[in-house]
Amino acid sequence: MKTIFLRLCIFLAGIVFVISAFAQNHFKIIPLGVYGGSDESNLSAYLLSVHGTNNFICMDAGTLHDGIEKAIEEKSINGTEPDILRNDIKGYLISHPHLDHVAGLIINSPADSSKNIYALPFCLNTLEEKYFTWESWANFGDEGEKPLLKKYHYVSLSEDSETVLQNTGMMVSAFELSHAFPNKSSAFLVRHDSDFVLYLGDTGADTIEQSNRLKLLWQYIAPLVTQLQLKGIFIEVSFPDEQPKDKLFGHLTPGLFFDEMKILSGLSNLSSLQKIPIIITHIKPDGDNENKIKKELVSGNTIKLHLIFPQQGSLIKL
Ligand SMILES: [Zn+2]
Ligand SMILES: [Zn+2]
Repeated sequence: MKTIFLRLCIFLAGIVFVISAFAQNHFKIIPLGVYGGSDESNLSAYLLSVHGTNNFICMDAGTLHDGIEKAIEEKSINGTEPDILRNDIKGYLISHPHLDHVAGLIINSPADSSKNIYALPFCLNTLEEKYFTWESWANFGDEGEKPLLKKYHYVSLSEDSETVLQNTGMMVSAFELSHAFPNKSSAFLVRHDSDFVLYLGDTGADTIEQSNRLKLLWQYIAPLVTQLQLKGIFIEVSFPDEQPKDKLFGHLTPGLFFDEMKILSGLSNLSSLQKIPIIITHIKPDGDNENKIKKELVSGNTIKLHLIFPQQGSLIKL
């Protein structure tokens, strides 16, 4: 009798553990590419889905094919590369049209299935006018130079309202960022129910860009930090601290990243911000930069943020 009771207790404890583990995870991320240059097999692209589903939105699309292959190898996702590309990726959310964020999308377009590309108008214009044209490639879009192959439907995001990310169960709001003024980039606040993920495309610091774009973003998300509704922040750190200020080209260094996080912490509170995983994206891996940047981020992390260095193909649960 005693043993049965004990077994029952262990069984129930197991169920409680599984349920609480489920309750803690809200989103699933599979990085398909993590670098901000040089290695064309591993450039910015992050699959994001609601936990427990494989209905992904692909945030930036620098690398697709190699990243999917790697994710299969790492057992982060089941299936074949063509199936995952065509069926599991439901759409693309593009922060800005630099090649390291769209090369995978363009190159894989002949093999892809019909889906939406979501972006702010400045970004859709470049895709339409510079890449999906008959001189550069083929027009797989549903606007621009004729004939239109209409595989991709351009969905223009607005800064004032949420847009449905079709077939993913998620919604998105977009924010303009400054990326080597006057060049623009975007941040995306993705929502499922009352849980959020924030993804920043390439961005310079407000101090360098003479901008207030990051400050406005931090002000907007501060309440979500305080209430712990924000489950993760993706933000770039492209260069080590030694990079001269006039050679930043609209990017962050570890020092500038911590300055921005301190502003966000001031607008919310540090103890909440420390609980939110911060995924460091877009390291430019030239020379020994990757090691330098990681060392500077670890040694400079006096405010004890929860930093994550993503690996191509390795699952992240938020
Ligand atoms: Zn980039
Ligand atoms: Zn860029």
